[in-house]
Formats: sequence, C-alpha cells, structure tokens
Amino acid sequence: MVKRILVTGGAGFLGARLCEKLVEQGHDVICLDNLFTSQKLNINHLLPCENFEFIRHDITLPIWLEVDEIYNLACPAAPGHYQYNPIKTLKTSVLGAINTLGLAKRCRAKILQASTSEVYGDPKEHPQKESYWGNVNPIGPRACYDEGKRAAETLFTEYQRNHHVDVRIARIFNTYGPTMHPFDGRVVSNFIRQALAGEPLTLFGKGTQTRSFCYRDDLIEGLVRLMDHPEECSSPVNLGNDQETTVAQLADLILEVTDSSSKVRHEPLPADDPICRRPDISKAKQLLLWEPTTPLREGILQTIDWFKTIDQNQYHPPTPNYW
Ligand code: NAD
Ligand code: UDP
Repeated sequence: MVKRILVTGGAGFLGARLCEKLVEQGHDVICLDNLFTSQKLNINHLLPCENFEFIRHDITLPIWLEVDEIYNLACPAAPGHYQYNPIKTLKTSVLGAINTLGLAKRCRAKILQASTSEVYGDPKEHPQKESYWGNVNPIGPRACYDEGKRAAETLFTEYQRNHHVDVRIARIFNTYGPTMHPFDGRVVSNFIRQALAGEPLTLFGKGTQTRSFCYRDDLIEGLVRLMDHPEECSSPVNLGNDQETTVAQLADLILEVTDSSSKVRHEPLPADDPICRRPDISKAKQLLLWEPTTPLREGILQTIDWFKTIDQNQYHPPTPNYW
C-alpha cells in the first residue's frame, strides 16, 4: 500500500538515504528540513520524482500536513554541530518531538523517533541494553543533545500511554557511510579527509575509547523494519553494529586502506567523551530479524570511495544566523 510519509531531517545524512529508499518503494514522501547541517545537494536527485516533495521548515514550529507515517530525524547529530547552538539543539529535540507527535496524534499516524546511544551517556554498563538507564551529565557540553533526546523519548512514551499514538523509538549508535557531511567533525569523516589529504589524523586522548560503527544502509534497513513492524512496539530498540573498535584501531584501518603517509597527532579528549560504547542488539535481532551485514573495512572502503568523488567546497558549516 502506498503511504504518505513525512521524514523530518530528510535532507541530512541518514534522512536523505531514508527518503531515497521510501521513494524507491513507491511511497509519497515529504522531506522536511531547515538545512541547518545539510544542503539540497543531498536530495537534488530526488526533486524530479513525482512522489517526492521538499519543504524547507524548522520543526520547532508546528506544521499541518496529512500523513500516515512520520520518521522524526530532525536534529543536528555530530558533537560539533549540536554544540554550535546548544539551546537550539534542545528546542529541536523537545519542540520537534511535541510538534511531530501532535501531528501524529491528529492524523493517527505511526511515528518513529531517531533517538541515540547518547541516552546512555558515558555508560557504566557494557554492552548497553535497552534496559540500562544511562549515565548522563545534565550540565555538560553533550547535555543539550543527550538530555534533549532523553526528553524526546519521554514525550514519545507519554503520547503512547496517554493518547495511544503508535510510536517507535530507535536508539541509533554511531553510523557512517557515503554522503556523511565531510566537515561534521565526526571521527570517520575527519580521519578519511585527513588521510586523503596527507594531513595528521587528530586522535583525541589515547585513542583507547571505543565506538561501534554501523554502515548507513544497514541502519536505514533497521529503521524501516522497526517502523513496519506490525505489532505495537513502543519501547526503545537499539540499532547499531555490535563490532566494537578503539578509535586508535579506526585510525590504523583508515591509514592502511588509504595507503596514506599521514601521521597521528594526539589532541585532548573532549569533556564527557564516552569511554566505551557497544550496543546489545539482541532485541532488534529477535523483534525485527535484523542485524548489520557490512563489515567495518568494507563500509570504510565505500565511504572513502565516495569522499574521493566529492567537491568539498560544496559543503558548508552550520548557518551562522541559526537562531
Ligand atoms: P544530520 O545532521 O546529517 O541530519 C539532521 C538533519 O536535521 C539535517 O538535515 C538538519 O538540517 C536537520 N535539522 C536540524 N535541526 C532542524 C530543525 N530545527 N528543523 C528542521 N530540520 C532540522 O545527522 P544524521 O546523522 O543524518 O542524523 C539524523 C538523526 O539520527 C538525528 O536525529 C540524530 O540525532 C540521529 N542519530 C544519528 C546518529 C549517527 O551516527 N549518524 C547516531 C545516533 C542518532
Ligand atoms: N575523535 C577523534 N578524533 C576526531 C574526532 C573524534 O579521536 O577527529 C574521537 C572522539 O573523541 C570520540 C570518538 O572519536 O571518542 C567518536 O567521536 P564522534 O565525534 O565521531 O562521535 P561521538 O563521540 O558522538 O560518538
């Protein structure tokens, strides 16, 4: 059945790929974005499609649409992006959740929230299961993102409890791949750009902190499966790759596959940077019959191939007059 689907943050790294997939499936897709951390470049190829429509709008303001499903992805995701204007980041998570949930309630639409592993903060439980409540500093530099996403999960849960809105909450772990913003300051994009340019790789701290990197297309498949699950499943589901790697190992891998002569330059570890992060994905495996299939080396090679093709001048940092 053809559905009318709203994707907020639809011009972003994950949103644009999701829109592409939904358009391919024949759905009527509305991409809503204020282009804060993205550019039309990501969706230009979709604009001629009859079943794709772009609306430039800020999700902190209400919007009236008629839709069957909503994927709520609007929110800056990279630390450098979400710390650019922390108050706006919080507003985007909280007011964005209120506005999209209100829309879902009125339209009786199903709605999925792009939550994050950051709700676990600097975790004391490892790997992280959905039952873990997290260890978040509410006044630290990451709080605008972490607490905003936690409050959004509360709102989604209360709209389900009080108004019976059909909600889905995906806790997404670090995701990378082609079309990620080359200047988002995230570790994968930084290391690839630096290695290709022969510049030093900026390794924060000792590089012993871990992350578990999921390839973009694996993640998108998980999001769609969660949305399409036929039964009520309102409690959060971890989506990510459970192969854990240290940041230093990632640097070695990128240096090896790019055959780069770049050196590694150590820089201070940012405040509240989580020491470890790995999802327990048993719930997604059992509920969605989903697990990532792209090994890190293969995904990194595909990402490097894409970085080699782009004109980096076409990507800009967040808009200065954002508030
Ligand atoms: P992204 O920055 O590329 O995409 C976010 C999109 O939201 C951008 O296009 C941006 O312009 C838009 N946006 C921001 N504020 C907005 C506002 N007020 N109104 C309308 N649009 C707005 O990031 P991404 O990596 O594609 O992340 C997408 C979602 O997934 C985010 O909600 C993020 O928190 C979540 N997530 C991503 C990751 C990851 O590793 N990529 C991990 C966990 C969670
Ligand atoms: N990191 C790094 N060098 C960089 C960028 C990031 O060593 O140039 C580290 C960062 O300190 C963190 C990890 O890589 O430990 C992942 O950082 P990223 O910003 O990609 O995502 P997040 O911290 O949100 O998981």
